[in-house]
Amino acid sequence: MSVSDLDAAKYGFAAPRGRVYESIVDVTGGTPLVAVPHLTKEDELQARLLLKLEFFNPLGSVKDRIGAAMILAAEKEGRISPGRTVLVEPTSGNTGISLAFVAAARGYRLVVTMPEGASIERRRMLRLMDAQVELTPSRLGMAGAIARAHEIIEEMPDAWMPGQFDNPVNPHIHALTTAEEIWADTDGAVDVVVAGVGTGGTATGIAECLKPRKKGLQVFGVEPTESAILNGDEPGPHGIQGIGPGFCPATLHTKSLDGVLTTSEREAIAAARRCARLDGIPVGISSGASLHAALQLAKKDEYKGKTIVAIAPSFAERYLSTSLFNGL
Ligand code: PMP
Repeated sequence: MSVSDLDAAKYGFAAPRGRVYESIVDVTGGTPLVAVPHLTKEDELQARLLLKLEFFNPLGSVKDRIGAAMILAAEKEGRISPGRTVLVEPTSGNTGISLAFVAAARGYRLVVTMPEGASIERRRMLRLMDAQVELTPSRLGMAGAIARAHEIIEEMPDAWMPGQFDNPVNPHIHALTTAEEIWADTDGAVDVVVAGVGTGGTATGIAECLKPRKKGLQVFGVEPTESAILNGDEPGPHGIQGIGPGFCPATLHTKSLDGVLTTSEREAIAAARRCARLDGIPVGISSGASLHAALQLAKKDEYKGKTIVAIAPSFAERYLSTSLFNGL
């Protein structure tokens, strides 16, 4: 048999996209839902568990959706324009990287403020895309980075802050895209969605789009056990980057959710590692947190035969210098 006899369709690869993209920004969204057959078997799950792999976004995280949407929405409203407005955002996480690719692609200058302790990989990714990184003293934490961003905005006449924790475009874009994709790809069979809560945009947007559409559909947030403020505990330090900011942001509508589950850092890492080892899907730590919470539901008789979707916000490689890789 020669190579030319092989039939591409037999390999089950994705079909061609049937189009050319004029900008990297247009490649955002449309991420795949993927089953985890080996986890399902090993844990004897009652439910069908699917992961929504947000690392298929252009810069590898769920935040690409809001990075693109917050900038495009402000542009449409005439609040910002390329070459004039300087974008300023305090973030030590994926949001900076997501804003950076859109800023570069659309011709904006971007200043990201972050505490000194933020990982070198992130700083370098930002600089690679020509963002300006301003480090603030680590003893002041995120509050220091936020204060510095406000100072810069005061100093600059044409500066604008996308403001992921307050901007209503954040939950809105998840309702318009993330939620609609889950609905379309499961043909409406989705019964439960589990999403980690950072800004709360993902969980809120999905809940507000899908719950009115199907009676009994549930959407659960997930927060770190070590900082379970939505369950009435005190904020505390934890290692699940991207979730558990220690306050309740304006972009999180807790009333729209069916509850907020908790996962410890240890459980999140264990779940993320099992996902990589058993099903070949190396996810980030917050994905492990949502996966752990979803596995607990999927084992229950109550969820027998239901379709549960867990959001996997990012890829393991973004956490190379963290405890996800300890001992490896
Ligand atoms: N996980 C990771 C890795 C993230 O970067 C984020 C975004 N902060 C989340 C989860 C949570 O998403 P959201 O802000 O929409 O609640």
